[in-house]
Amino acid sequence: MPERDVAYLIVGGGPAGFSAARALRDEGAEGEVVIVSRDPDPPYDRTAVSKGYLGGGTERKDTLLGDAAWYAEHDVELLTRTSAMKLDTEAHTVTLANKEVLKYGKLLLATGANVRRLRIDGSDLEGIHYLRALANADAIRADTENAEHVVLVGGSYIATEVAATLTALGRKVAIVMQEDVTLERGFGPVVGGFFQKVLTDHGVEIHAGEDVERFEGSDGRITAVVTKKGTRIPADAVIVGAGVTPDVMLASRAGLTIGDRGGVVTDSRLATSAPDVYAAGDIAEYESVVHDGAHIRIEHWDVAETQGRTAALNMLGRDQPHDTIPYFFSDLSDWASMEYVGPAFGWSEEIVRGSIDDGEFTVYYLDGDRLAAALTVGRSDDLEQARELITSREPVDRAALAAT
Ligand SMILES: Cc1cc2nc3c(=O)[nH]c(=O)nc-3n(C[C@H](O)[C@H](O)[C@H](O)COP(=O)(O)OP(=O)(O)OC[C@H]3O[C@@H](n4cnc5c(N)ncnc54)[C@H](O)[C@@H]3O)c2cc1C
Repeated sequence: MPERDVAYLIVGGGPAGFSAARALRDEGAEGEVVIVSRDPDPPYDRTAVSKGYLGGGTERKDTLLGDAAWYAEHDVELLTRTSAMKLDTEAHTVTLANKEVLKYGKLLLATGANVRRLRIDGSDLEGIHYLRALANADAIRADTENAEHVVLVGGSYIATEVAATLTALGRKVAIVMQEDVTLERGFGPVVGGFFQKVLTDHGVEIHAGEDVERFEGSDGRITAVVTKKGTRIPADAVIVGAGVTPDVMLASRAGLTIGDRGGVVTDSRLATSAPDVYAAGDIAEYESVVHDGAHIRIEHWDVAETQGRTAALNMLGRDQPHDTIPYFFSDLSDWASMEYVGPAFGWSEEIVRGSIDDGEFTVYYLDGDRLAAALTVGRSDDLEQARELITSREPVDRAALAAT
């Protein structure tokens, strides 16, 4: 098969890939822009998968980041159900599963992440689910339709969101997690405790400080989750939210530098170790100018979107560092929402503004005297000030932060 020239090739149809294509056209890129995605669906809002789409309030078509008219208007070619199998950085080629060879001018790798699977006894029983794509949400909805007991494994935002969505649909839900308090690994016990109370107030049963040892089943189907402490939780269906690993298969086989956090190492311009190859989104272990040049990897929607745009600008030769402060959001049904700005790093002190009991508060995470991050429930206006403080790196006034 003859090679085909593509000026701008994007591998990955998630938010990073889509926003790169959009930015390339918005910024006047000339020549072909091609997105290769192994998904059956065009790029869509993955954050809806555990929220509105799983709950049934958001239709599939409303999750799409662009409809067919968008691709036509922007002259972006989208190849769905198409895997990139091989990258040759010297020849500047990507070979697709159908053996077609695309010769790129600039390449963006935005291959995202895959769910981490539990390898324990019973993990191949029917009724055990993982959640990453729209099709997973379809399967979970169908499989929990008549379930009496649904068990969520994990205490992070995916497990808590799904627990809330399914409870709102009328399912009886339990969470089993290693953490003592939901969400505490990412956001600390104060915030975690607030969201845990929201969940238990709505009837979610929590099994904290527990490690799942095995799944039990009957006739090939899950019946219970058993923990190392011997707790046995009845289950007609299980959804595991045990984190993700960056999908660096293509990149590592091609010899690109992979970092300590398992991602594709980039500089602050999101350029990888190979010429004309960039990386963005969940796979990018990027040199962050807002984190004193540390290499970090963040699995947030907004980070993927903004990095897609930065990568596009650099593919156009604009020499643009990625200097956006990471932003994250999460919703527990329509019960409570959080917004967070800052790195996913450690902190030494928390200062609370507002009232946790009233569900309107902001938590400021301090690293020494500097603001490292902030999380708000119901006080979005505080985020702008937090962004300014994080960027300025000035010592904070603790009393002013606590004042409402
Ligand atoms: C259920 C769920 C809910 C979430 N909710 C939130 C939230 O509320 N807030 C938040 O900030 N973040 C949330 N996230 C995280 C957020 O969705 C991710 O950080 C984001 O999607 C990462 O974008 P990406 O473009 O890097 O990768 P992805 O979205 O993973 O997209 C990667 C794409 O690459 C394709 N691909 C991979 N390898 C190949 C290959 N070799 N050839 C062709 N195509 C390939 C994949 O098929 C996919 O289309 C959620 C994630 C999930 C799963």
